[in-house]
Amino acid sequence: MSDEKIKDEMPQNFLFDFSEQTEARRFLWQSYISNRISSAYLFTGQSGVGKFVMAMEFIKFLKCPNRTDGTYCGECNSCRTITNWNNPDILILFPMPSTVWERENLLQQAYEDFRNSPYMRPAFSKSTQILLNMIRDVQHFLATPSTLSGGKFVIVADAHKMNKQAANAFLKTLEEPPQDAHIILTTDRAESLLPTILSRTQILRFRRMSTAQIVQNLVQKHNFSPELAERAAKVSEGSVAAALQFVSADFSEIRDNALGIFKCAADGDLVSLWEWANSAPSNSDYLVNILKILHSLARDTSAYLSGAEILNSDSEKIISSAAGKLKTFENCLELMHNIQNLRSDSFHNPQYKLIYGAIVSALENSFGE
Ligand SMILES: [Zn+2]
Repeated sequence: MSDEKIKDEMPQNFLFDFSEQTEARRFLWQSYISNRISSAYLFTGQSGVGKFVMAMEFIKFLKCPNRTDGTYCGECNSCRTITNWNNPDILILFPMPSTVWERENLLQQAYEDFRNSPYMRPAFSKSTQILLNMIRDVQHFLATPSTLSGGKFVIVADAHKMNKQAANAFLKTLEEPPQDAHIILTTDRAESLLPTILSRTQILRFRRMSTAQIVQNLVQKHNFSPELAERAAKVSEGSVAAALQFVSADFSEIRDNALGIFKCAADGDLVSLWEWANSAPSNSDYLVNILKILHSLARDTSAYLSGAEILNSDSEKIISSAAGKLKTFENCLELMHNIQNLRSDSFHNPQYKLIYGAIVSALENSFGE
């Protein structure tokens, strides 16, 4: 092997926390080693797999004057200011209500929340967008040269949330990127971005994380006990954000709700099911999570019937009673399929009452036979 070849090979420790995102890491390493850092990247893949966090790590690496092998030093001025989110050469944007963007104290709080939990997004009571004024800030930010070495960077998290004016303004920035400026967009809905934006970015696809990597992340970065990490990771569908949500108070209330619904269905208690459908909140987080947990319970019922491992190991009693009613693997698959269809329906402007009714009908059909 020539010396050149050895030098080009990606070191093991490059973006090591994301060791499973092999293609994305290789691509970024090649950009770096060949001195061709793109003016715009799009990191796409389901939420909670580390797109945003990896973008920050990559920037930290690029801007560290003491980087060796595949990693940054973590101690220099550049590394420290990036860790603290106050590096003058980095601008971070994420969706928020306009009322938060316009109020300095609320804005500070939102940034603080995001920095403390970068796999999640800050929770707001109003709907969120990436606003035109935020994109104007990007243009203003990129108009001046970088303060420290290594160029200027903008990260736009959940870029599909740009409203129409913001997307059009942003396109202008992408068309004429200032020298030494780099933009990283992240999204779990690439199909919602303007085709003209997609065509001007280098697209890097992120995969779901393995249970083992999520457990490692939860234990090392989020101080979970190994037991809790294991339980949360198993129901996370490959997402650290979903695993973190698993232990939040709100989520555990919704989960209890979903377990109750599944139990009522197995017990044939239709009165309680319809009572629930008629009073369930018109809230997309609630709906999405109910469907997710019901899907996972139907999946566990099929696993129970075939002797495979149950993911919701704390709910074996409910699952075994559901298995007694559903009887066959095929019935479980049909229920999973119906719930999955409702999950797709619930993404865009859900008609809550209709979907809750459809959930009860699907359960009634499967369990009633
Ligand atoms: Zn450093």
